[in-house]
Amino acid sequence: MTERKIRTRFAPSPTGYMHVGNLRTALYAYLTARANNGKFLLRIEDTDQSRQVDGAIDIIYNTLKETNLLWDEGPDIGGDYGPYIQSERKGMYKQYVDQLIESGHAYRCFCTKERLEEVNKIKTASGQPTGYDNHCRNLSKEEIEANLAAGVPYVVRQRIPEGKTSFNDMVYGVIEVDNSTLDDQILVKQDGMPTYNFANVIDDHLMEINPVIRGSEYLASTPKYNLLYEAFGWDIPDYVHCPPVMKDSQHKLSKRNGDASYEDLIAAGYLKDAVLNYIALLGWSPKGEQEKFTLEELVKEFDPHNISKSPAIFDMDKLRYLNAEYIRDMSVEEFLETAKPYIAQTVKSECDLKLLATVLQKRCEVLSDIPEQVDFIDALPDYDTALFENKKMKTNKENSKQMLGEVLPVLEAIEEKDWNMDNIHTKLFELIAKLEVKNGLVLFPLRVAVSGKAFTPGGGVELAAILGKERTIDRIKTAIEKL
Ligand code: GLU
Repeated sequence: MTERKIRTRFAPSPTGYMHVGNLRTALYAYLTARANNGKFLLRIEDTDQSRQVDGAIDIIYNTLKETNLLWDEGPDIGGDYGPYIQSERKGMYKQYVDQLIESGHAYRCFCTKERLEEVNKIKTASGQPTGYDNHCRNLSKEEIEANLAAGVPYVVRQRIPEGKTSFNDMVYGVIEVDNSTLDDQILVKQDGMPTYNFANVIDDHLMEINPVIRGSEYLASTPKYNLLYEAFGWDIPDYVHCPPVMKDSQHKLSKRNGDASYEDLIAAGYLKDAVLNYIALLGWSPKGEQEKFTLEELVKEFDPHNISKSPAIFDMDKLRYLNAEYIRDMSVEEFLETAKPYIAQTVKSECDLKLLATVLQKRCEVLSDIPEQVDFIDALPDYDTALFENKKMKTNKENSKQMLGEVLPVLEAIEEKDWNMDNIHTKLFELIAKLEVKNGLVLFPLRVAVSGKAFTPGGGVELAAILGKERTIDRIKTAIEKL
């Protein structure tokens, strides 16, 4: 990187959701700023008013706040920094476009939509790629004056010079293009609004952004941006283009699949810290083996030089695994607070929540697993007695019935006030010792009897303690009747 101060920005267009690739870009820009004592800015690129989505800015704003990617500058919004919003700055861009027209690096194009469509039709018919035919590039001064006097609407286009343009991207290396492959793109639309491509360059310059960190989909436009910097005589920033985030080797992650946005992942029960941690690893590899990082650790570890240009594959299983690690590392209290709304989806009755949280925490990978894992608490499912047959535990219907018959009086003898895991454990293990049988022969039927399920968070002892005496005894009786 050149010796310029580090100022990065996240410059999303408000699309109405936070694509994980975008959040990754925000994170890399944030980390680069933090690691270099630099500044991180948020700029909303909303000059394309036709694509406005209600509430879209709030989603960006809230996601960054929630994930702690806090920016350092911006307009004052009551003691807090707001984001820079391009549409609010639109009057400011005019002087720059005037300057380019003056210096010949841009020109007014009076072509109508119909004419442009006609040009494209003809090009398509003759097998040429569509695009502007530079019709207004060399209008005479008189023609321009006459059009202006007649009030003919116009756009302003960039005049791409002849030659080659090259730049060195930190991730993709040297990229060189022949300028003949670049189109005279629109800088200002008929309504006077700058295009995204123009406002982006002006703002990156005015906000002294360096390096520019963004998605690889902008690699192709970067030569045009650099020609604008040159036209103004401004320093070209360093570039870090991040690889695309793919669902698999063929498909990009897309909103349509419902798996591409931060909100989708949170709604699906992933923890924000786990998501952010996983996103950091999409295209960037730490030097060592460590994979679990806090944001502070990432600041220390992250180096944009280690971003890979190969597309990053979003591996749901890996995110699930990492999420499970985050769940295990919580304190029980913290987990219970986080899990409560999910437990409450299926559990309305009273039960030992703290104990439930302790057993759930060990067996839950994603919070949205929880409602189904605990749905037996309120109502015993109408289960099939075949569930009692288990090869490993050496249980069948017959011996299960017999063992439950032994368990019932032992548990009935425990007084309500003494009903807890330790006492249940002691009494049942006394019984197991007395009967001289394997633990599973007693505990597995108990587990099935009280839950009506083959897979549960926690074993028979834990479940009995969670459910309370009354429900446990009732359910054992039901099982004996069923068997
Ligand atoms: N506004 C662009 C987007 O939302 C980002 C452009 C940039 O970062 O330079 O994709």
